[in-house]
Amino acid sequence: MSTAYKWNDHTYDVVVVGAGGSGLRAALGCAQEGLKTACITKVFPTRSHTVAAQGGVAASLANMGPDNWQWHMYDTVKGSDWLGDQDSIEYLTRNAPAAVYELEHWGVPFSRTEEGKIYQRPFGGMTTDFGNGPPAQRTCAAADRTGHAMLHTLYGNSLKYDVDFFIEYFALDLIKDEDGVIRGVTAWELATGKLHRFRAQRTVLATGGYGRAYFSCTSAHTCTGDGNAMVLRAGLPLQDMEFVQFHPTGIYGAGCLITEGARGEGGYLTNANGERFMERYAPSVKDLAPRDMVSRAMTMEIREGRGVGKNKDHIFLHLDHLDPAILHERLPGISESAKVFAGVDLTKEPIPVLPTVHYNMGGIQTNFFGEVVIKDGNNPDKVVEGLMAVGEAACVSVHGANRLGSNSLIDLVVFGRAIGLRCGETLKAGAKQPEIKDNQTDAHLARLDAARHAKGSIPTAKLRLEMQKIMQNHCAVYRTSESLAEGKVKIDAAYGKMGDIGTTDRTMIWNSDLMETLELQNLLPQAVVTMHGAENRHESRGAHAHEDFPNRDDENWMKHTLASIDIPTGKVSIDYRPVHMNTMTDEIKTIPPKARVY
Ligand SMILES: Cc1cc2nc3c(=O)[nH]c(=O)nc-3n(C[C@H](O)[C@H](O)[C@H](O)COP(=O)(O)OP(=O)(O)OC[C@H]3O[C@@H](n4cnc5c(N)ncnc54)[C@H](O)[C@@H]3O)c2cc1C
Repeated sequence: MSTAYKWNDHTYDVVVVGAGGSGLRAALGCAQEGLKTACITKVFPTRSHTVAAQGGVAASLANMGPDNWQWHMYDTVKGSDWLGDQDSIEYLTRNAPAAVYELEHWGVPFSRTEEGKIYQRPFGGMTTDFGNGPPAQRTCAAADRTGHAMLHTLYGNSLKYDVDFFIEYFALDLIKDEDGVIRGVTAWELATGKLHRFRAQRTVLATGGYGRAYFSCTSAHTCTGDGNAMVLRAGLPLQDMEFVQFHPTGIYGAGCLITEGARGEGGYLTNANGERFMERYAPSVKDLAPRDMVSRAMTMEIREGRGVGKNKDHIFLHLDHLDPAILHERLPGISESAKVFAGVDLTKEPIPVLPTVHYNMGGIQTNFFGEVVIKDGNNPDKVVEGLMAVGEAACVSVHGANRLGSNSLIDLVVFGRAIGLRCGETLKAGAKQPEIKDNQTDAHLARLDAARHAKGSIPTAKLRLEMQKIMQNHCAVYRTSESLAEGKVKIDAAYGKMGDIGTTDRTMIWNSDLMETLELQNLLPQAVVTMHGAENRHESRGAHAHEDFPNRDDENWMKHTLASIDIPTGKVSIDYRPVHMNTMTDEIKTIPPKARVY
């Protein structure tokens, strides 16, 4: 069987898997440090999901009113519902302005103020004066196509440096040696069917989120969390996977995103009575409350019979009161999306919207240098040699239990840059590396070969749909002990069916049947640990709203979940890591937990 396959071997100092905003920034940074760098991506770099980001990137530039990084830090800690690591949040918010200016200098075409400065809009949960002042205008925007502008600029700039791109290469698994050190990664070249081994001193996972574990999400079909799954298969845990963000304004039916920037520009939500109900749930910031709160309020309105439409099952987002010239200038992309996907002219009518899966707060646990860490006896933060992670795949953790809008794009570039710096500090270019042995990669081949020749009775698409429906029904905006217990049984059963998958295409060239099957093999264990983590957490915090435990319980639950899975049996084990309550420097004190009201 596996003797029919041949490995093509490559050696690099650093191999980055993923060419979204985080992967490109990390690869560029490593190349700037003089390290020989490869960047592997399953889609063309500028087709990564970062391209779809609309609203903007957060940094306290104070272009449109008073602001500073300490206020940004306060908002991020509060937004995280005190599950974020405060040292990492300090690193993020402190370095955010420099990261945005760097993007500006590289050529991101930001929208401008009258005086020519970067335009900034209000976003949910972003305030002034440690939550006591009015909303902050902190989110730097290139109209409503900020991710598009950033990704193209980053790709263009990465070509100025010596990064070797391996485009349309599907990364399979991490190469791990006998001592648990990560030595690189294997990949399948989609266009030729060739197989590759990338040996590297550091492997950086920048593979994005796993929104596609759910039925209705704003993320691209490629968002299958492949890096997270490689980590699980390498026997390492993932952190805080129960925290899944629902964005309040996905287009009803289609799931496509209408940016929070729409509310930042003055948009508001109404129920069947035409009431601006957010005034009841978040009296001070109203429609600019954080996403978890707005999603819950909308769900509550629908449940209590005040949804709009024939089935009273969604909510209206109004922009029709705004000046059409402003809409045209600042929100051109969503004007088009509303037309195409909802058939609505948003200058005249409201857009039908519904909370939709949008972002994964959980992922691969790292410190603020980007190094993957693991709990080892009394040390909760032991570095896993050879492995780093960044972007939505990583859990640094700056977003804790709930990410604030526009804090992901900044996370990509701040921590992407941190990875370049860290690799520069700790690696020697061209250092000798041990040979990769076949027994370290045989299992990768066996898994690929089994999926390619799978003769079971269930088509990949059918099992994928089953998983997506289970997650959507049992692990949604609101959760109960009953729905989660049932969800666990169902998702474990779905996981068990993976062995009965059947594929039909046996070739190695552009075999999308095989690729989707490998992606499903990646999604399923993540779905399982998400459901188990949610069932296990007996409190409500951020995006995890548990109706049988409606309050946050800091005494018992102010800790990160670490969930691992035994791949053959699907058995989940859960452990914990403490939240870092310490800050990075003495220049700011720990922000002590308090009730999260807006
Ligand atoms: C519609 C939408 C709008 C958003 N708007 C905003 C916003 O305005 N502001 C904000 O802060 N955040 C926003 N977000 C969130 C933010 O855009 C994402 O979290 C972020 O872009 C993720 O970037 P990334 O670099 O981690 O991964 P991605 O951009 O998802 O890229 C993943 C990369 O990994 C590669 N990859 C994955 N698996 C493999 C594999 N097996 N082999 C090889 N390569 C692989 C892919 O090819 C791709 O290059 C938005 C998200 C969505 C979905």
